[in-house]
Amino acid sequence: MTGSVRARAASLAKLVELLVFPSFCRICREPLDEPGEKVVCRACLAKLAPRSGPSCPLCGRFHESSAEDHLCARCLERAPAFSAHRSCGIYGGTLKEIILLFKYRKYAPLSRPLARYAEAGLASDPRLWKGAHFLVPVPLHPARRRERGFNQARLLARDLAKLRGMKVLGGCLVKVRDVPPQAGLRAADREENVKSAYYVRWPARVRGKTLVLVDDVTTTGATLRECARVLIEAGAKDVRAITLAQAL
Ligand SMILES: [Zn+2]
Ligand SMILES: [Zn+2]
Repeated sequence: MTGSVRARAASLAKLVELLVFPSFCRICREPLDEPGEKVVCRACLAKLAPRSGPSCPLCGRFHESSAEDHLCARCLERAPAFSAHRSCGIYGGTLKEIILLFKYRKYAPLSRPLARYAEAGLASDPRLWKGAHFLVPVPLHPARRRERGFNQARLLARDLAKLRGMKVLGGCLVKVRDVPPQAGLRAADREENVKSAYYVRWPARVRGKTLVLVDDVTTTGATLRECARVLIEAGAKDVRAITLAQAL
């Protein structure tokens, strides 16, 4: 390529970027003028702080009215198939705004800063990472994926895997039943709702492996519990899970 062609290609690429991505922060409306800024400005991203506070050491449920970590009533009654789950923060404020932009407004480049946020908040927890072989994104039903254009959990897993030098096991855990949306259902109904919705397509790939499930948001944990259950049933040695946020 000659210099002028290259310059024209570069300005065309810049124009396409301006058309595809807004030139102001979708949260605070300040211009995005720092190099590498996309969709949300650095100042807004800097507001994402990992939550530190008491939680259930097993399922990771945040305790609001207790000063210490302790097993929650649900885990005491029936332990999940995963050995640990951690969320980075509470589903609210700037974190919720960014997740909504990422997921429903289809701003896929937000996956990178969200993966960095997850890495910053969860990197030091050995219960999640020790001996882990693969990251496994929580799958969407193919009809939902077509509708959205991407699976947000898969993008997050991809970018988190890059940061951690790990591999993603994609397409192995699949969603075979398009269940009604979980939002608006009571906890018991959510568990019923996800039963037999997931399936392991290639059990040989998970046999004897330690896996870390990745999802964006968890509410009751019913999806993670069911995904972990089918992975263990298919022969996985250990399953852990991480989410960006948990709704209280
Ligand atoms: Zn901003
Ligand atoms: Zn628990």
